[in-house]
Amino acid sequence: MKFNELGLAEPITRAVHKKGYDKPSPIQEKAIPIVLKGQDLMASAQTGTGKTAAFVLPLLQRLADGPRPAGKKVRALVVTPTRELAAQVHANIMDYSINTRLSNLVVFGGVNIGPQIRKLQRGVDILVATPGRLLDLHGQNAVQLDNVEILVLDEADRMLDMGFIHDIRKLQSLLPTRKQSLLFSATFSGEIRQLAKTMLHQPVEVEVAPRNSTVESVQQCIHPVDKARKAELLAHLINSRNWHQVLVFSRTKHGANKLVKTLAKSNIRATAIHGNKSQAQRTRALADFKAGKVDVMVATDIAARGIDIVELPHVVNFDLPNVPEDYVHRIGRTGRAGATGEAISLVSADEFKQLRDIERLIKTNLQREEIEDFEPDHQLPESNQAPRQRQGAGRKPTNFKQQPGNGNRRGRSRRRGKARAA
Ligand code: AMP
Repeated sequence: MKFNELGLAEPITRAVHKKGYDKPSPIQEKAIPIVLKGQDLMASAQTGTGKTAAFVLPLLQRLADGPRPAGKKVRALVVTPTRELAAQVHANIMDYSINTRLSNLVVFGGVNIGPQIRKLQRGVDILVATPGRLLDLHGQNAVQLDNVEILVLDEADRMLDMGFIHDIRKLQSLLPTRKQSLLFSATFSGEIRQLAKTMLHQPVEVEVAPRNSTVESVQQCIHPVDKARKAELLAHLINSRNWHQVLVFSRTKHGANKLVKTLAKSNIRATAIHGNKSQAQRTRALADFKAGKVDVMVATDIAARGIDIVELPHVVNFDLPNVPEDYVHRIGRTGRAGATGEAISLVSADEFKQLRDIERLIKTNLQREEIEDFEPDHQLPESNQAPRQRQGAGRKPTNFKQQPGNGNRRGRSRRRGKARAA
């Protein structure tokens, strides 16, 4: 299947090819024709599946021939839960719309509202926004939403998790009833279905398999370790394995800050990204990380949501997430676009419940590997809740043993749970 076979016009496929993509991803193949027909859509797809292009490309085509928007009016509205995701979706829109005359703008909180008000005065074809700032702008009569032709709710599940339901309801009351609505969500929970019922009109449902069952390029493994020695172990892994571009997940903002300081003591350049940082600090941290100025970015789940860093080689769960689905989102940061990635979790005995929940969700017992000199005093109980299944069936599991002579790296570590990965 090629992009032009999906019904997309030449100026759009040209922009896609310029990005280096010649084959639509499964979500793109399924969603694009539906959106082009003008139907409402409910799509289950996670970050990393190519979901952004799945709505941006047909949206551009549907807007291409219409009249310019009047002052303060918006023709297509994309709502995202986080600033990072808004910025990223906007960057995609700029890339894909390069051969069109459509205008676009991104607005989110944490930055000066003045320039956003000014830019909205002339009206905009495509507006990407986070809910709070959008309502704020509407309250100041800087934007009018009664002409919106297409609404996209991106990562709707995360919007609900973050407590945006009231903002979404309010937004809904400001939008015209007749419009095309697209809802993207990692999962279709009962809550999401409820929201979809009130917001979508006879939607077509499309689903692509979650990343954990399709992406076999992510090698997952856990290192059992005592809680007090996690930071030391992380520094050891980064230094001895010569890792660069490591994304580390911390459950708390405080924990993220503390870890950055501890890593600095081992001469590891690290930065933190979380909700207590200003927008400027977050943007800078991400830019430094992408540019290789720092080797490690420590992030909380919400801040990391939607961040797209091409071919990120290492993801480390410094703490396991409380919500098992977040594990899948976290490891979705690596192993993209055909690149192999490694997702490692440092797990202490007190996190057994979280581990068990994750293993149940992904229907896999994660391979365990103790690192010499870091064997835990508090043993992590064996997990046997999940059916025994090879990780990433059909391909080799993590190949620690097949690195002869690499004593420093992995050869010295000890594997447990022999049946798990064999
Ligand atoms: P997304 O799920 O939208 O965050 O996209 C994940 C990554 O896949 C981004 O880096 C996209 O630029 C990239 N991507 C999107 N569509 C394709 C495609 N058809 N082929 C290859 N990569 C793509």
